[in-house]
Amino acid sequence: MSLSFDPKSVALPTGHFIGGTYVSGPAEIDVVAPSDGRGLAAIPTADVGVVDQAVQAAKAALVTSGWASVRPRERVRALHAWADLIEAEAQTLARIEAVASSRPIAEALPGDVMIAAEQIRFFAEFADKECGDLVPTSDGQMGFIASEPYGVVGAITAWNVPLALAGWKLGPALAAGNAVVLKPSEMTPFSTLYLAELSVRAGLPAGLINIVLGDGPTTGAALVAHPEIGKISFTGSTRAGAAIMENIARTGIKPMTLELGGKSPQLVFADADLDLAAQCIARGILGNAGQGCVAGSRVIAAREIADELSDRIAARMQAIAPGPTWEETSTYSPIISERQLQRIDGIVDAARAGGADVLCGGARIEREGTFYQPTILARVAGGSVALAEEIFGPVLTLQPFDTEEEALELSRHPTYGLCSGLFTRDLSRTMRMVRKLEAGAVWVNRYGRSRDHILPTGGWKASGLGKDLGREAYLANRRTKSVLIDL
Ligand code: NAD
Repeated sequence: MSLSFDPKSVALPTGHFIGGTYVSGPAEIDVVAPSDGRGLAAIPTADVGVVDQAVQAAKAALVTSGWASVRPRERVRALHAWADLIEAEAQTLARIEAVASSRPIAEALPGDVMIAAEQIRFFAEFADKECGDLVPTSDGQMGFIASEPYGVVGAITAWNVPLALAGWKLGPALAAGNAVVLKPSEMTPFSTLYLAELSVRAGLPAGLINIVLGDGPTTGAALVAHPEIGKISFTGSTRAGAAIMENIARTGIKPMTLELGGKSPQLVFADADLDLAAQCIARGILGNAGQGCVAGSRVIAAREIADELSDRIAARMQAIAPGPTWEETSTYSPIISERQLQRIDGIVDAARAGGADVLCGGARIEREGTFYQPTILARVAGGSVALAEEIFGPVLTLQPFDTEEEALELSRHPTYGLCSGLFTRDLSRTMRMVRKLEAGAVWVNRYGRSRDHILPTGGWKASGLGKDLGREAYLANRRTKSVLIDL
């Protein structure tokens, strides 16, 4: 059966989801399909009052369901039931995702939807396995470290992979015994709403997951500042992450995890399997048209193979299939908005004006929607925006190196440290480089996360604070209590 579908046939939920029901409000923010620019729906903006309503619904759900204090296996069972329903409703969820985001249906169905279900299952299993510690004390005492949930966790997500990000946030927070108020991006809010609706239909207590719609400065800021939110879990840009830190410092201290931007290097040595490197690098920047935090946008290649490598990457870039995200044959994503496309084009133009060679691409794709050609820039002037800033588009820069030290020096970014790619067949060099690369993740002879959710993700430097995924994400949703008893 074909995966293609008529975008007008997809019903989109448009209200806040509070206490298990949709709550409407004045339609204020227009959401547009990037594939063809069609207006899809307008969503309301949750102000301080609506955010408070969601927090109170979350608190009430915790009290009436006893979610934090039930036998932990009960939480595991309930979360698996939700994941079952997500899988059963995969087609509907994937269509909602595809119609209103940059995710092509052929990727959203087996990828984003199934990954969200998998993450919920993965985190569910921590609920009845993660233990406290009995600590060494004198015989006259007993000391142990217990842990408890925060209560209501506030989560805010970016627009680029909405379902996967919702899974990252909701899975660990709920497994750890919290309720959640989540604000998805105002650009791609619909699939997160439906995910929350499915949780109630699967039997999770109404109010355990609440979704508030709106922009960052109004809704996001109100959520962060709410005094009864115990912890903030954020994914988005470094700029917004800094605004959240400032807000938290001003309105009351609370823990936060921040998953932020990147400008990740991929180092290719002369002994590497060049075909493998070209394939991984192309895939790493073509996926979601480069609109991924982990996009490996800076290629740093040994001088003797740099030309051949860029030719091989460029050849793979020719094989893209741009098209509406609701067509099964489309594998290349649109840029999320006209504004963002203009920004990408402006950065490429500025690099060109500064003397860079545009080895391929360098312009919008002339067709309906906001599509940009995969682009490789060489001889980019040091200090140019193309090298310094996260572009969040399908643009690679290429820099040659002569020595291992020079490769390392080029790989270091003053601000970002999210991840790094390394291509070499030399084991000793691999181990030397793995130790020295300044990033929260290093991928060797591959590029990108796998579906092994046990590996935490999170950046160094201004790429983040704390981790998502892995055991660390579960633990970040509980707070420890040190207990000492005089016997
Ligand atoms: P963004 O920072 O503009 O928005 C992210 C979310 O934050 C949105 O929901 C937005 O409404 C909200 N927001 C904005 N300002 C806020 C404020 N002052 N207070 C509270 N909330 C606020 O980012 P985006 O354009 O949606 O996403 C792209 C960015 O996200 C890129 O920088 C990308 O690297 C990053 N990202 C990081 C990861 C990761 O795991 N490190 C994953 C995905 C995306």
